[in-house]
Amino acid sequence: MSGRPFLQIPGPTNIPERILRAMDRAVIDHRGAELPPLVFEIVGGLRRTFQTRDAAIALFPASGTGATEAAVVNTLNPGDRVLAFNHGAFSHGFAEVARRHGIVVDEVELSWDRGVPTDVVADRLRADAAHAYRALLVVHNETSTGATTDLAGIRRAMDAAGHPALLIVDAVSSLASLELRFDEWGIDVALAGSQKGLMLPPGLGIVCIGARALRRSEEVSTPRSFFDWRPVLKEMERGYFPYTPATLLLFGLREALRLLEEEGLSQVIARHRRLADAVRAAVRAWGLPIQCREPAEYSHTLTAVVVPEGTDSDAVRRAAEAHFNLALGAGLGRLAGKVFRIGHLGALNDLEVLATVAGAELAMTVIGMSVPLGAGVAAAQDVLLKRHLMPAPR
Ligand SMILES: *Cc1c(COP(=O)(O)O)cnc(C)c1O
Repeated sequence: MSGRPFLQIPGPTNIPERILRAMDRAVIDHRGAELPPLVFEIVGGLRRTFQTRDAAIALFPASGTGATEAAVVNTLNPGDRVLAFNHGAFSHGFAEVARRHGIVVDEVELSWDRGVPTDVVADRLRADAAHAYRALLVVHNETSTGATTDLAGIRRAMDAAGHPALLIVDAVSSLASLELRFDEWGIDVALAGSQKGLMLPPGLGIVCIGARALRRSEEVSTPRSFFDWRPVLKEMERGYFPYTPATLLLFGLREALRLLEEEGLSQVIARHRRLADAVRAAVRAWGLPIQCREPAEYSHTLTAVVVPEGTDSDAVRRAAEAHFNLALGAGLGRLAGKVFRIGHLGALNDLEVLATVAGAELAMTVIGMSVPLGAGVAAAQDVLLKRHLMPAPR
């Protein structure tokens, strides 16, 4: 198929030309003089993206799941008790990673259509007067449902209960796209990957580590080798790594952070909100429900669209791919076949969103769903036009 493929899944995302070009170069000696300035620039840029002044940054050649494992094995011992939540495939997966390391996980069952409610956290923490919970495992943006969790509210609930648990946050699909305030929200560990808001290929696991979590990692005795962040942090302080780093990805990451800085993080966040508003307007015009039922918790990085009973959402995805070279996200876990997901994060602009909406409309029509052709595009155009309209002449 000629023309550019539309990769509109919620990660991996499209890679801007500038990032591709930054990675298209000779591999360097990872023990040479070129590495430290690269590493130092990356650490500075990532700190600004996590909105932290001086938290530690550890990089692993791994996917986001590797960063999850690093967060768990460095802060928790087998037998420790943690509070986790099941409101989507990724929050459940987070709990599973901890469980497989022998951690006792209280996994609160929630509906798969919203974030973690602050009052549920408050109740659980109040009931834990003995402070048995060593950590809370929270997914900031549940990528399977398109619902965000109010981390500031969770921090307030923890403070109100005077609870000393660590706040460990999966920020894989929110970093560099949604407001994420590591310092202000008292996050202890935030983990991410390279292939979502950072607009890179998959392959880098990123962990942002606060002072309390650093101290805890000196005390825990969980067996760990590759994912022990202590030797990584020690070497990164000198600009190197205790393993062979994914050198070319580091060049890409530096370029991605420069792009984010040029646009400005607050503008990047505002752009994600605006494009998400346009996609949601389109879904409403189709007459289809959005999986997240709490508007205040809508994800600005993806939208899970619910298809009518008796329709297989995967058929929409297959038609979009086969007919229009458009990749949409599948329904995950218990949402398989029930929703398809539109990714609207990373490098993305107005016209790409309109093309994506048009492609989804066409694919739904191809499989026999009755959607008013053009209605979603018009609704999205309406939202996107606002910013561009000239003030009326006086
Ligand atoms: C994508 C994603 C992951 C998994 O990351 P991988 O890079 O696929 O290992 C974890 N959590 C969330 C919220 C995600 O969106």
